Amino acid sequence: MKAILTVAMVIGSSITSVNADTPAEKPNEGLMTEQHEKNIEICTQNLVAIGKAIEAYKKEHGDFPEWLSDLHPKHLADANTLICPTDEEGGKTIFSLNTDPKMPVSYGYQFHPEYRKEKSAQREIYGDVMPLVRCRHHTNEDFDCLNLSFSSKIYKSSHVWESTPEDLYGSHEAAITALEDALARHPDNRRFFEVHPQLIRLYTKVGNEQSANALIERLKSDATKDLDGYRMLFDVLVMTERYEEMLEIFKAAEQQHPDAEPILWRLAYIYKKLGNTELAEVYDRKADPKYELWGKSVPDFSATDLDGNPISLQDYHGKVVLLDFWAVWCGFCIDEMPDLKRVYDTYKEQGFDIIGVSLDDTEKELRDYIKENDIQWRQIFDGEDSLVRQYGIRGIPAPWLIDRDGKLISHKARGEDLEGLVVEALKNKPEDR
Ligand SMILES: [Zn+2]
Repeated sequence: MKAILTVAMVIGSSITSVNADTPAEKPNEGLMTEQHEKNIEICTQNLVAIGKAIEAYKKEHGDFPEWLSDLHPKHLADANTLICPTDEEGGKTIFSLNTDPKMPVSYGYQFHPEYRKEKSAQREIYGDVMPLVRCRHHTNEDFDCLNLSFSSKIYKSSHVWESTPEDLYGSHEAAITALEDALARHPDNRRFFEVHPQLIRLYTKVGNEQSANALIERLKSDATKDLDGYRMLFDVLVMTERYEEMLEIFKAAEQQHPDAEPILWRLAYIYKKLGNTELAEVYDRKADPKYELWGKSVPDFSATDLDGNPISLQDYHGKVVLLDFWAVWCGFCIDEMPDLKRVYDTYKEQGFDIIGVSLDDTEKELRDYIKENDIQWRQIFDGEDSLVRQYGIRGIPAPWLIDRDGKLISHKARGEDLEGLVVEALKNKPEDR
């Protein structure tokens, strides 16, 4: 279940992910900046030491460690080296998937057992400059991550390092050479579809329109093969903002693949960009059948909350309620949490409430998180996926906002939209029953 949902989450947000997961925390002037700089310096020294320890470990074992904790104590005597000074919790990664099983570690290790296969394949494309260990604790307006590469280089980058290969290779020109070389070595490796749009962006940056056009033409002839081809072409054309041309191509694609969700939501996106909100909405609805549920009564469920009490939607009649499908391992869900808490605190007295439905693997992960983060609303641990199945949830976050009469307002009530929808819904009085 976890793997499927993670993929769905990534696919569903591929366009907005760069903006969606960068909660920039800008340090204030003076002392703050000085402390911030000092922490980066200490963190950099930690990464250098970790890099050396990994080298030593490899010499002895002939392979990378499974986790950074394997370095301690033999190759990394001081366990504090695994703690970033900006990490206020003293040994916690930002993404729980990276959590070291043996000891407190602030750093995201990119080569642990669950990542290794994927990262090894990626390394064939990007080479040894790609990140091996990452610190995500310094996020500010200049950069998101401090990275130690496979070749022990330290550099700053965005969360999605693939989106700025110039950070890895040092210049636009060097990045172009490296990516062209990678494509030449793996011409048919479609897994690395992000290489093409990045190349287009880099070509445009250095004014090489000829190469950009040549690549686009090649992908165009490739696109008609299957949906993956269209996905690749779309990502490339988005970089060039040629929306009229995209519309033509994707209307044709719709003929070829009627009702294909990946084509339909891309058409919605293109219409939005062209300012045609009406058709954008038509295609949004076609792409996601759940829009049909808006304004309709949400079927009730019966479950047991974490305190062992029965819980159902019926209990919330007369309130505006957010039925929030989430998990501790879902980075986007965790990013939303501070905002969710604020909206809850602001409107709970006026009749707003939240029911959390957790898709975590273990109840303990959920209990630990809500205790540590002081989450006040009730939670259901959906270990058997019964609510996930009942509501047809295919990816998270899936926040269903339900009005005072039990009707669905939106199944995507998140981010900036949530508060406005809640305020609007609270104005309505419930119907008499
Ligand atoms: Zn750090």
